[in-house]
Amino acid sequence: MTKTQERTFKKACFFQRVSTNSQDVEMQVQAAARFRENYLEEDIIDINEHGVSSNKLSMKQRKHLLSLIEMIKTGEIHTLYVYDRSRLTRRFYEYFYLYSLLWENNVQVVFTTTDSSYPPFSRDTVTEGINALLTEEEGKNISRRTLDTHKKTPNQKFGYITAKNGERRTYVHNYEFQLAINTYFEKLKNVLNLNELASAALELKKVSKRPLKMIFSMALDAFYCAHEQSNNKLYPLPYVTPYLSVEEFKENVKKLSPMLTQLDLHETELQVQNIFNIKCGSCGNWLKYDIDAVNNEAYYYCNCGSNKKQTVRYTISEIREVVAQTVIQYFKHINLNYLRDLTIKKLSKLRDTLSLHKLDRLSVLKQKELSFSLENFRRMHPDSIQVKIDEINKIKKEYVKIETDVNLCSFTATSIHDHIHIIQEQLYSGFSKDELIQFAPSIIDEIIAYHDKIDVIQFFTEGCTPQETFEILEVNDSWN
Ligand SMILES: [Zn+2]
Repeated sequence: MTKTQERTFKKACFFQRVSTNSQDVEMQVQAAARFRENYLEEDIIDINEHGVSSNKLSMKQRKHLLSLIEMIKTGEIHTLYVYDRSRLTRRFYEYFYLYSLLWENNVQVVFTTTDSSYPPFSRDTVTEGINALLTEEEGKNISRRTLDTHKKTPNQKFGYITAKNGERRTYVHNYEFQLAINTYFEKLKNVLNLNELASAALELKKVSKRPLKMIFSMALDAFYCAHEQSNNKLYPLPYVTPYLSVEEFKENVKKLSPMLTQLDLHETELQVQNIFNIKCGSCGNWLKYDIDAVNNEAYYYCNCGSNKKQTVRYTISEIREVVAQTVIQYFKHINLNYLRDLTIKKLSKLRDTLSLHKLDRLSVLKQKELSFSLENFRRMHPDSIQVKIDEINKIKKEYVKIETDVNLCSFTATSIHDHIHIIQEQLYSGFSKDELIQFAPSIIDEIIAYHDKIDVIQFFTEGCTPQETFEILEVNDSWN
């Protein structure tokens, strides 16, 4: 094709999907240039889709892509130039819809990427299907690659102001935080333990309003000594103004990384203790869980109270105490006959009913899946495909829900058998607090926390002798 030949009604379409990353735009423009020069401007249709990630938006939300589809359908395009498959869509089903359209309307497809190993557009359905699948997979790797670039040239870095210096970005100290950051790094030289580390970070935390953890992590971030760390090696970043020397950075790593590992350990230990769902008695929301890893303590809290005295806030140890007490009271007072006869019988009846429902859903699901697999996707609008997929997913969800309920019945029945054994043998008197807490899910329905008390609602309350109220903890507010 030359500029003089090939002047037909149909045009060449250059499709670009450009992100906010200007390097990426530049790359697509350059790659397309060698093809553009074959055409006169009036024989070119440009579609530039801006700031859209095809990972996140589906096809019907992308109006530029929809106009491309319209032009293919109306036969306005003879050749589609696009950087690679991922610029069209990363979704397998969507890509196949486009593929069918392009194929049926006899549109040539040219990928403009300069990577010679990139597989060209194939008219073979299986080959192109594999290529489309690879594109979808690749989408999942993108966030990882973005992270790599982010380490070298982050869009924003705390403590820095970025400026453009020709092609390169430069990073200079942000005056607003410069003093506090310098003081922090200076103080780090004398830090000997976690508490000292926390107090060294306090001033910067106050000034910057950044979380403590982020300030700690600055100590192990090579960017602040103007280097990038990769595979335990340091590579200089000449466009970054350092806050500390490489030697100081290495000192910090040597001294602080064991402390920060310890801190992570505390955090993990406290995180795994967050096994309770506790409702706020005042506002009905779930209490939040907050970890103070430096002091190795964690809290459940809700900030809905109008003043500090009304604040709902309990340490994890207090909650564990309440739960363990409830469990032991249950073992001591529950009526064995009630558990054995009434509860077990009710459960097995319920399980039978649920199993019938489950079978019914399963057969409907199989039917729908079969009829879906026999559809001719090439002739279907993506919206109609989506409707069918949604229908199938809905039934799958119902099925899973019933299955969960059946499992819950079995779990409860097994638990009750265990309870009976424990009560008969009086095993509970030898249980540790952790062991008692492990029984909580089968005994405690709900925990509701008020600012001055915790209510525990149990299952099997009718079987409890004596019938008691479950207000079992009065909390003094001395820590307030
Ligand atoms: Zn609340």
